[in-house]
Amino acid sequence: MSQPILDGMPRRLYSATPTRLNTWLDCPRRYRFTYLDRPPPPKGPPWAHNTLGAVVHNALAGWWRLPRDARTVHRVGVIVDEYWTAEGFRDAEQADLWRVRARDMVTGYVARLDPDDEPRGVERTAGLIHGGTSLTGRIDRIDQRGDELVVVDYKTGRHVLTTDDARSSLALAVYAAAAARTLRTPCRRVELHHLPSGTVAVWEHDERTLTRHLDRADGIAAECADADAAFKSGDTGDARFPPRPSSLCGWCDFQQHCPEGRASTSTRASWAGLEAS
Ligand code: SF4
Repeated sequence: MSQPILDGMPRRLYSATPTRLNTWLDCPRRYRFTYLDRPPPPKGPPWAHNTLGAVVHNALAGWWRLPRDARTVHRVGVIVDEYWTAEGFRDAEQADLWRVRARDMVTGYVARLDPDDEPRGVERTAGLIHGGTSLTGRIDRIDQRGDELVVVDYKTGRHVLTTDDARSSLALAVYAAAAARTLRTPCRRVELHHLPSGTVAVWEHDERTLTRHLDRADGIAAECADADAAFKSGDTGDARFPPRPSSLCGWCDFQQHCPEGRASTSTRASWAGLEAS
């Protein structure tokens, strides 16, 4: 549990994931709803795009966990069907349309993989300590390429990703540093694999860029530690956890509990995050 920083005293080690740090940056009120209020406020309905993303991730992880001989393109399509749910979709027809799209997306991707190219990790948790922060994350896939590791992050959203997305991602930088530390192998390259378009956005970090991201993560974590301690001592109001309305409010699970968020963006249908369908 975090404590307020006393003058001249180092803060206690704070444990965080990149998701937690990014939530604080995006909106302190949403951070409070997500991580501090207990019980948390009820969330809105599930999002169809999250269902799609979860099924695709689970199918790819399940495929890599199969024995080598079972890793066929056909089999990954079967796994998609097994994991599929209609959560968040408008109706059964829309859900079925997207089940077929998900199958196509995943089978097209797997057709370009070498099933013999065993990853070093699949949905692997990795971590490291930097400054006063213990950072952990679960990495979709860690490849071994030559003497180095590569972080692979699957994406299923509408927008094609760019080199700048890979370069600027705090999460990917933390994953690379954490993979290197956990698996004791250099890791500088991060890749965003966008399944809908079949494109890959790549960035090669160096010590300087990784350290810059880790220092930033440590700084955000210090803010989270202060906020957590304030919450624990009863300072739970908007001054400490202000709403930060933005275009993200339309995707916020807690918009129904947030007047400022509702005023900034109209509530979206739970299937609005899909491509036009
Ligand atoms: S609706 Fe917007 S302002 Fe309100 S908690 Fe969610 S992200 Fe923050």
